[in-house]
Amino acid sequence: MVNQITLTGMVLSSMPVNEYDRRIVILTKERGKIVAFVKGARRQHSTLSAGSRQFSFGKFTMYGGRNAYNVTGMEISEYFEDIQMDIDAIYYGFYFMELAAYYTMENVPSPEMLALLYVTMNALRKNTIPKKLVRHIFELKVFAINGEYPNVFACAECGTNENLLSFSVSKNGVLCKNCKGKNEGLDLLTSTLYTMQYVISADIKRLYTFSVTDEVLTELTMVMGRWMAKCVDKTFKSLELIT
Ligand SMILES: [Zn+2]
Repeated sequence: MVNQITLTGMVLSSMPVNEYDRRIVILTKERGKIVAFVKGARRQHSTLSAGSRQFSFGKFTMYGGRNAYNVTGMEISEYFEDIQMDIDAIYYGFYFMELAAYYTMENVPSPEMLALLYVTMNALRKNTIPKKLVRHIFELKVFAINGEYPNVFACAECGTNENLLSFSVSKNGVLCKNCKGKNEGLDLLTSTLYTMQYVISADIKRLYTFSVTDEVLTELTMVMGRWMAKCVDKTFKSLELIT
């Protein structure tokens, strides 16, 4: 077999093509986001059928064609099929795949993004913390991985790390008690600030280990909404499904 390779990844999206095939986009650890075709994936009894569905995670064996890869084998370790029972979880899953696709590209290895997607889908499945919190943790960590995160560790004006109590999108971060007056900003609870600091600095495996109060979640929603509007120039279709 010419140029056969095996890549570890997750299926971000999957669409039917031709009579029996599928075109899938996989986020791979080794080669970033790639497009691959799975011949015969829609035939009955195809061994490549289940693994060609969105959210499937595992090893994909393929060879490179002229414009895309062709998948010849799979060793799927996780289908996240229990998420399919919960319509809200599916919609959140769609959004996570869409945001990951937006932030990745071909030939740029994406081990952190792939690891983040995996633990995030696991958090959705376990359902022990609110999906909305999972969403904002995921969003903030995506920004952290890409180096686009707000400075929540020191005042954007004077540099102090004390009495930080306001978030300013235009200043790219937080402001202290003294600097807040001159600037527009969102008031932040200390717990919201700590939550953001934790998400940005924590190991990916330790991200979904806490919950927050409703007040903190509301503040996170506002902060992340404004930060997304500043950094992302795309409307995500899947977000319209999330209530
Ligand atoms: Zn200050």
